Amino acid sequence: MSKSILPIDDRLYDYILANWLRETPLMRRLRDETSRMPMSMMQISPDQGQFMAMLVELIGARRALEIGSFTGYSALAVASAMGPQGRLVCCDISEEYTAVARRYWQEAGIADRIDLKLGPALATLDALLARGEAGKFDFAFIDADKTNYDGYYERALRLVRPGGLIAIDNVLWDGAVADTTKTDEDTVAIRQLNAKLLKDERVALSLVPIGDGLTLARRR
Ligand code: SAM
Ligand code: CA
Repeated sequence: MSKSILPIDDRLYDYILANWLRETPLMRRLRDETSRMPMSMMQISPDQGQFMAMLVELIGARRALEIGSFTGYSALAVASAMGPQGRLVCCDISEEYTAVARRYWQEAGIADRIDLKLGPALATLDALLARGEAGKFDFAFIDADKTNYDGYYERALRLVRPGGLIAIDNVLWDGAVADTTKTDEDTVAIRQLNAKLLKDERVALSLVPIGDGLTLARRR
């Protein structure tokens, strides 16, 4: 049996980007601008963006949800992949980060597909549920504060239709989930959700070892 997660050094990662990455010049510029920000490491990797675009195409998503948008890279990938009929609801609390996102969404010509809800995402998701939006989404991406991941997951599971897909980011947390000496609240929250998902019969489950680990949970 081979190990399913290959150690990837810089040389191999450069090769991967050189041979698989299809990124528009605009997305490249957004990465460059974000890389000069102190919290740049929060951005998903470009190969992950391309993978998420593929997922959205595969399931023919028309309505998607994003929890944690930062400077807009993952939203740009997902909203572009959905085409002009697509609608993406983005949740974030930061006016500053999302001002960058809005600028790029505008320039990409996809701003009209994106409904940015500024405020705590739990409240935004509860408002969507209260408005009768349960089961109306095809895809959800969870990538905001880790201590609320379980709350985001439970709400996303109600908001996506049966057969809809939830993608949860950073589920390996740089390896900390497997290190029993790590007991900070973010690590514990991710570890607990990982353990819960394993037994959660409401979803089909898979781990994609891309970026910092991406869980795919498909609602049954
Ligand atoms: N998906 C983004 C990308 O591709 O660049 C990265 C998202 S970043 C890891 C997490 C984001 O979650 C930040 O922009 C932060 O402002 C936002 N956030 C943190 N706590 C939040 C909350 N309670 N509600 C909504 N957004 C929150
Ligand atoms: Ca992330």
